[in-house]
Amino acid sequence: MKTQDLTPEDVRIAWANLKPQIERYARLVVRQGVNVQHGQEVVVQAPVERADFARMLARAAYEAGAGHVTVIWADDELSRITYENVETAWFEQVPEWQRVQLDSLARAGACFIFVEGSDPTALSGIDPAKPAAASKARNTQCTVFRRGLDFNINPWCIAGAPVAAWARHVFPDLDEEWAVLTLWRAILAAARADGDDPESDWELHDATFDKNLRFLNERRFDALRYTTDAGTDLTVGLTDAHVWAGGRSKTPEGVPFFPNIPTEEVFTSPDRLRADGVVYSAMPLIHHGTKIDRFWLRFEHGEVVDFGAEVGYEALKSILDTDAGARRLGEIALISKNTPIRESGILFYDTLYDENASCHLALGIGFPECYEGGYDMDAAELERRGVNASSTHVDFMIGTDDMDIVGIMPDGSEVPVFVNGQWSWE
Ligand code: ZN
Repeated sequence: MKTQDLTPEDVRIAWANLKPQIERYARLVVRQGVNVQHGQEVVVQAPVERADFARMLARAAYEAGAGHVTVIWADDELSRITYENVETAWFEQVPEWQRVQLDSLARAGACFIFVEGSDPTALSGIDPAKPAAASKARNTQCTVFRRGLDFNINPWCIAGAPVAAWARHVFPDLDEEWAVLTLWRAILAAARADGDDPESDWELHDATFDKNLRFLNERRFDALRYTTDAGTDLTVGLTDAHVWAGGRSKTPEGVPFFPNIPTEEVFTSPDRLRADGVVYSAMPLIHHGTKIDRFWLRFEHGEVVDFGAEVGYEALKSILDTDAGARRLGEIALISKNTPIRESGILFYDTLYDENASCHLALGIGFPECYEGGYDMDAAELERRGVNASSTHVDFMIGTDDMDIVGIMPDGSEVPVFVNGQWSWE
């Protein structure tokens, strides 16, 4: 619908109806997302274009007992201007003040809310070495901050909010204001935050995670076999001490939080040496602004030995050529087709949403949390035990409505896990 087909009064009413829902979503992110504790420092990183939502989060955080809220603004256009005008070498060092800011907030026990909302094509044409250098610098130099997130010492939550350029990309046929409003609605629905009481909806959601995780972790499958009518027939081996994760995480002190809102996946890291067969993509993969679509990969002994793509072959090849680990799997994730994101049918051009739309695999690095005792191992030891190592991690969707997955027990017997794209016990 074009906004001009609506009267200004229609648009005003639509926004007025949406506002209380966005406020409930802000409370969800604060209370279930990072689970703010009394007196805690709360950090909100948000696009400056969504200052209204950042203010809602700050208010909700104080209501939940926050001691102080720090807001760090982000802006796609300003990032672009900076990348256009500043040499790569500058991005290899995090400015001293920024390192002190992030590390001292992490050391003070802050929780971090990352509001994700950006133009999927914001950096098209920019030398990818610059953003890569900036993110590598932040990950290696802000050590307290990085460790705080990686080891769940500081509760953190990534949640989305629309900006105009993103909304135009997802809904190109709508006028800008209506596109933003429509993307808000899609975000709230995807986040299970469009009901009267999102916080209790998430308690229920978490109970489903618990049930599925318990089933998978008790079975101790040796491998999973995926099949679809389109030709996917892939068997992926699991490590001897694999752990299925998903839903809530916990700080070492036991404070529960949701690192992603939305989240639908239960996932583990497979054995890097055991994947055999062919897998076909189920959705386009957007990688650094390039679309890769209708592609397939053939695995032998865990490694991609052949591949093809109708769209974006070169981009797929460049992912696989990143390093040796980029040809092996670091993650397998199970997601039922009965989820709000999948049912919406919307391609969000944003991994937070799109990776929750269907069962996926990821090429590249695996997760220490997906191996018993993995947090206490270094990268070399994890690799020796079968958890993949790489400098990249790229998710791609493989789950179709007809996908069957069987779990193979160490004695060779088979247990249905997915039938026609959903949990066999659903
Ligand atoms: Zn995943």
